[in-house]
Amino acid sequence: MAVLVTGGAGYIGSHTVAALLERGEQIIVADNLQQGHREAVLGGKLYVGDLRDGEFLDTVFQENSIDAVIHFAANSLVGESMKDPGKYYHNNVYGTLSLLEAMIRHQVGKIVFSSTAATYGEPENVPIDEHDRTLPTNAYGETKLAMEKMMKWFDVAHGLKYISLRYFNAAGAHASGRIGEDHSPETHLIPLVLQAALGQRPHISVFGDDYPTEDGTCIRDYIHVSDLADAHVLAVDRLREGGDSAVYNLGNGTGFSVKQVIDIARWVTDHEIPAVMEARRAGDPAVLVASSERARQELGWNPSRAKLEDIIGSAWAWHRNNPGGYNKNG
Ligand code: UDP
Repeated sequence: MAVLVTGGAGYIGSHTVAALLERGEQIIVADNLQQGHREAVLGGKLYVGDLRDGEFLDTVFQENSIDAVIHFAANSLVGESMKDPGKYYHNNVYGTLSLLEAMIRHQVGKIVFSSTAATYGEPENVPIDEHDRTLPTNAYGETKLAMEKMMKWFDVAHGLKYISLRYFNAAGAHASGRIGEDHSPETHLIPLVLQAALGQRPHISVFGDDYPTEDGTCIRDYIHVSDLADAHVLAVDRLREGGDSAVYNLGNGTGFSVKQVIDIARWVTDHEIPAVMEARRAGDPAVLVASSERARQELGWNPSRAKLEDIIGSAWAWHRNNPGGYNKNG
């Protein structure tokens, strides 16, 4: 049986495809290539199309024996979601509805979902655990929460089993050097810092130094993309073993401020990396740090690439070797 990976040409999706291929799984990727890269799909069969197109999904399910889906395909930028929430509701929420309906039509009852710490909003407790309140501070997080809730009700009505993985801040690149992070436009802190190190941008902007944290900048929990990929493989295993629906946080449990990330990147890259203080970015909570105890205990997840200098080091290797990303190596 094959695993369908929606958004498998994207950053976390492509690393999960790599992890599934490494253990001999049959992979089908569905991606509209709006953000994804054909070159990032290291194997399996790629279908180019949009999840909102039910006929496209019928073709994918009819032509393959699929028993589980890993669902990444979505827009995922906090800032953009505050300016254009409609885009997020249309692609993320309607896209997921179309996917779940196709799964019901084709009797596929297992889905692993790419969710986010943005579902919590400003946390009640640090570290955050899965029982904490979910009150998103941005439209992106709100749509991911709506997608999770949709799965819950499809479980109640149709017995669809889902594992939702709420990631904290994905970073780093695959050890092979073949795949890494390449967003256009890039908005994430670590790749932007590394672009500044490469001289591709004059400086890194620090969005707010008046947060209630020790150095005034936002604190995030950075997790290696290949550790995230491993969690998806474990989640597929659990559903195939008959596991029930569940939600898990995925993070390292340690927070780093924006200023600390820049300092570690200066050390890793041996470049100056000028930083300029700017206004806060809309929708950003001050501190997001995960408790991933539940994923460790129930999925047997054990993130093995936890040190931030190693995470940034793997990203640095990718950016240095692919300064123009996938398409433009120069
Ligand atoms: N950030 C920043 N400058 C940038 C990009 C991001 O100061 O150019 C901050 C951002 O405000 C947040 C943290 O870095 O506090 C991580 O942001 P990112 O977009 O990487 O991930 P998010 O936490 O939004 O998923």
